[in-house]
Amino acid sequence: MERSRVGVALGRIARGKRVARAIVRACGACGSDVKMPRAVAGRIQMCASPANHWTGDVFINPETGETEEGNGTLWSCASRLCQSCVSKMAARSRGELRVAVGYYKLNPRERYYFLTFTAPARVERLTLKQSRAVIVRAWQLLRRRGEWRQVEGGAKSEEFTLRAWGHHYHIHVLGVSRWIVTKTLRAAWTECLMKAYGEAGLAWRCGTSDGLARVHVELVTPRDVKTRRSKGAGDIGLRGLNSAILESAKYLTKSDSWEKLDAGDLVETAAVERWGRMFELFGCLRDARKAAREATKQETQASSSYVHTTEIKDGELSVASGTDPPKEMVKERRRTWRDELRERNIDEWRSWQLMKVKQTIEARRSVLWLKYPHATFYDLNGEGWDRLNAQQSHRIT
Ligand SMILES: [Zn+2]
Repeated sequence: MERSRVGVALGRIARGKRVARAIVRACGACGSDVKMPRAVAGRIQMCASPANHWTGDVFINPETGETEEGNGTLWSCASRLCQSCVSKMAARSRGELRVAVGYYKLNPRERYYFLTFTAPARVERLTLKQSRAVIVRAWQLLRRRGEWRQVEGGAKSEEFTLRAWGHHYHIHVLGVSRWIVTKTLRAAWTECLMKAYGEAGLAWRCGTSDGLARVHVELVTPRDVKTRRSKGAGDIGLRGLNSAILESAKYLTKSDSWEKLDAGDLVETAAVERWGRMFELFGCLRDARKAAREATKQETQASSSYVHTTEIKDGELSVASGTDPPKEMVKERRRTWRDELRERNIDEWRSWQLMKVKQTIEARRSVLWLKYPHATFYDLNGEGWDRLNAQQSHRIT
């Protein structure tokens, strides 16, 4: 049974607060220049505020009267360490991937493969940032290789898990490809990793019996089958398409990994300004998503009365703006919270940020009202609001 929306929201609130506390603790342990990670912790804490989370029955179709539950956040801190924001990003990625896969027609020689590219465990410790840099660089190199030419396109995502020996950073690819020979792919990946390590000034040491880095190759079937993980050597595993889609568009890591991560790593990761694309469609699947969007746009223009539910389920609403704002306003709006932080001390910045969050929450409440006039929304403090009669809203217990 699906967990209730309130339960989901409460879980995210609790995890957000724990991660924020872990960052603050890690800042204390590290001492040095910690304004930025502290601010990130503050934003995650604000994101995890019960007043920022909404849940409610969302009126979907005025003709049938169907309703569906929804939940989400009103303001987003957009941190990769924030459970609420990352689940929103993952939901969006899943949606894009489902659209692309639904639209793309495999030709007779093509199959879907679920590939996991890993780097060897190392004796000397790399920071999470270093691990990510080398593996993403190796991925860029792989895409230029002849061995990769048979891959027509796919979705790439990044993930790390924590092991006894440290973090295990890896790349998942749901790829459309002609037949893949595991050993050939592993050899190409190993060379790309070696080059990336060399460029970063790191010594190469593989540790596998055949001297090749591990790439797990799983053939994807449209049916729901029990996943058989590939053993990595020359083996090909098996996975259902739905499972492959879920795996390809997940969170960067489980929320409790942040709590267990080494303090220095956590502080460094929290301070990362530009993450680049953690999830991306490429080649034929990117084209398929684009074509599907075009087709939907034309359909929507033909009948504009139906409101699509996924827009609100993930708490992400796009508000149509009337006309373009004047140029000087655009300039003003580009200032980020990081710019504000650089010019203020942390307490002043916190007051400024809190004011911005409150403004956004109020504005977004109104947007929800206007967009779904028959729905009733609650925040996780139990405060309800709707357009018709806010007083009659039931409190959440
Ligand atoms: Zn957030």
